[in-house]
Amino acid sequence: MVSRRLVLAALAAVPLFAGPAGAQEAKLPVAASFSILGDFVKQVGGDRVAVSTIVGPNGDAHVYQPTPADAKNLAAAKVVFVNGLGFEGWMERLAKASGTKAKIVVATAGITPREMADEDDHDHGKDKHAHDKKGGKKEAHGHDHGAADPHAWQSIANAKIYVANIRDALIAADPAGKDAYTANAAAYTAKLDALDAEVKAALAKIPAEQRRIITSHDAFGYFGAAYGVELISPEGVSTESEASAKDVARIIRQIKAEKIPAVFLENVTNPRLIERIAKETGAKIGGELYTDALSDDKGPASTYILMIQSNVRTLSSALSS
Ligand code: ZN
Repeated sequence: MVSRRLVLAALAAVPLFAGPAGAQEAKLPVAASFSILGDFVKQVGGDRVAVSTIVGPNGDAHVYQPTPADAKNLAAAKVVFVNGLGFEGWMERLAKASGTKAKIVVATAGITPREMADEDDHDHGKDKHAHDKKGGKKEAHGHDHGAADPHAWQSIANAKIYVANIRDALIAADPAGKDAYTANAAAYTAKLDALDAEVKAALAKIPAEQRRIITSHDAFGYFGAAYGVELISPEGVSTESEASAKDVARIIRQIKAEKIPAVFLENVTNPRLIERIAKETGAKIGGELYTDALSDDKGPASTYILMIQSNVRTLSSALSS
C-alpha cells in the first residue's frame, strides 16, 4: 500500500481535464468571449469541454464591461477563445487582470477581413474602401480607424474557419480528445454546408433589387458579401458611437428615394433609432435580426444555426412581399 501522502501527490500531478473517458471525469474548462463563439466551441468540444461564455445571449460585446466573475472564469480556463478583429476591446485588460495562463485563441485567424467602409470626412489618403461604398456604410467615428469589420461569423464560409481553428486549439490543449474534436468538427461543418445551401436558396427567391437591409449598426457586411445583400446602417460597425444627425438624415433620404420597403431591429441594439427611421420614412419594421449575440434558450436563435435560419426567415418574409 502506498501512503496517503503519495496518493495525494499522484492525484495532484494529474491535470484536471486529462485522462481517458470516464463519467465523473472533469471537463476541459474553456472560455469564449461571446455567445455565438461559445456555441461554436460547444459544438466542437462536445462532452469533453465546459464552456463559460463572457457576453451572454442578447449581450452587446462591443461595449461590454467585464465583471469579477468573468476574471474568475478566465483564470480557470485552459483555453480562451476570442473573435479578434477588434471586437472585444476589453479582453486584453480582462485577461491581464485575471492572471489567466490560458492560451488566447483568435477564432477568426485565417479569415479574410472585410475592411470598414469609410464614407465620412476622414481621408486616410487611400481609396481602399471604394469597392463597397454604395451601401452608405461608414466606420465608427473616433475609434478603430482602418480596422477590420469584426462580424465575420455572419458568413457561413467564415463560420467553418472558426470551427477549424477551435478544433485545432482544443486538440492542442487536450490531445487525448483529438478523435472526438475531429469528428465533432466534421459533423458540424457538414451541417454548416447544408445551412449555406439553405440560405442561398431562400435568398435567391427574393428579387435582387429587394435585397437591402437597413439595421442600426453595420453587422451584416460579411453576410451581404456572401449572399448578395446590400447593407445600409447609420451607426457603422460598432455600437460604441451613435449615428450622427447627418447620417440619419442621409439614410432617411435614401429610403425614400429608393423606396426601401423595410428596416430591421437588432437584438443587441436599442430599437429607438430604427423606430424613428421607420416612422419618418413609412418603411415597415421587418422584424428583429440577431447580429452579435444569440437569443436565450426560449428565443428563436439559441444556436448559431437557429440564428441564421431565424434571420433568413425574417428577411424573406419582410423583403419578398
Ligand atoms: Zn456588432
